[in-house]
Amino acid sequence: MSALPHELLPDNATVDTNGSLCIAGCNVLALAQEFGTPLFVYDEDHIRIRCRQAREAFLGSVAYASKAFLCLAMAKLICEEGLDIDVATGGELHVALTAGVPAARIVMHGNNKSTSELAVAVNAGVGRIVVDSFDELNRLKALGRSTEHRPKVLLRITPGVEAHTHEYVTTGVDDTKFGFTVSSGLADAAIQRTNELDAVELVGLHAHIGSQVFELRSFQRAVEVVARFAEPYGLSELSLGGGLGVAYVEGESAPSIGEWADAIAVACAKVGFNTPVSVEPGRALVAAAAITLYEVGTIKELDGIRTYVAVDGGMSDNPRPVLYGSGYETFLPRALNSKRNKQVRVVGKHCESGDLLVREGRVPGDIAVGDILATPVTGAYGHSMGSNYNKVLRPAVVFVRQGDARVVVRRESYQDLLRNDL
Ligand SMILES: *Cc1c(COP(=O)(O)O)cnc(C)c1O
Repeated sequence: MSALPHELLPDNATVDTNGSLCIAGCNVLALAQEFGTPLFVYDEDHIRIRCRQAREAFLGSVAYASKAFLCLAMAKLICEEGLDIDVATGGELHVALTAGVPAARIVMHGNNKSTSELAVAVNAGVGRIVVDSFDELNRLKALGRSTEHRPKVLLRITPGVEAHTHEYVTTGVDDTKFGFTVSSGLADAAIQRTNELDAVELVGLHAHIGSQVFELRSFQRAVEVVARFAEPYGLSELSLGGGLGVAYVEGESAPSIGEWADAIAVACAKVGFNTPVSVEPGRALVAAAAITLYEVGTIKELDGIRTYVAVDGGMSDNPRPVLYGSGYETFLPRALNSKRNKQVRVVGKHCESGDLLVREGRVPGDIAVGDILATPVTGAYGHSMGSNYNKVLRPAVVFVRQGDARVVVRRESYQDLLRNDL
């Protein structure tokens, strides 16, 4: 029945004299009033601090995995903080380049990069291409005939490590669509094949075991497998991908970025791997930086069953509960420190019973239609995974910092919904 634990809020969250939530000096109820709902509110300095922590913790480079949340302002912020940026499609690459990110600081991923995506990446001069398949090597070879550029590549290898996370975000086991498997010899074959190609320069290896990973041992096992595998080839770069988990609900606790780095360093020392390791965190940099604000539209009390609280968004702005069964907390920003003594299910406005945001949520007993309701830790894989299902408009995103709020992604309009229709 407790109030929301403040650890789940962005770093610069405070309570004003009326008991309502402010982030970076901005009252969130005023933000909802000014910019409408649903609304993603990001604490900009929270992201900047996480970027600095990551850069300090790792000797190798840190690339932000942009699929967690990407827009022009975000790409610029990442650049200002000295991180590289990891993109996995032509679309993400386009946003990063448009934001002015120098191509040399872009890492191009993807398990099925098309020839045209590769051509844009190679011609732009991206810093690294992470090669995922033999077909991709063939495409790069063909491209090599028409371009002067000789991209530096890493090979994505699959270390056969269980990450102990949701099946849909497990990527390091042998049975996966990603990369070249170490255990079956595919990874060795890929190295040979790559070394035969003039079109690319093989500089290192990449492994990414999954996402929302809490067990540091899993990262350590990946280091052991990859370092042992890499040794005879004398490759100088190793990127260990992202995947560090974050706490979403009361009682969860995740390792810090510093603890993640320490665990990786320990594993490297153990196997005598002296090259600085690079990483690609996404979620750990942005998830806890944001909350989503919604307006409560209907409350349906079913005696002896449950109470449904319906808000003006849903699976179109946060599909994680539907995709992975992910849990979230919920609270009323007008009464941040009030006891949450009413059990509710928070649902969206889509035409599906599966459209839920918080399966077992708790809110203060006086919740009413018209209240602003919030879910914390929505900064990663919410806006980026959003959709226009039911022709619901994608929410606006605001960055708040030192008392100022700026819209970085405007709310969609009905005209936007028709822009591609002929
Ligand atoms: C998704 C992904 C990441 C980031 O994962 P997080 O869990 O958000 O840290 C990093 N690298 C690769 C290759 C990925 O696919």
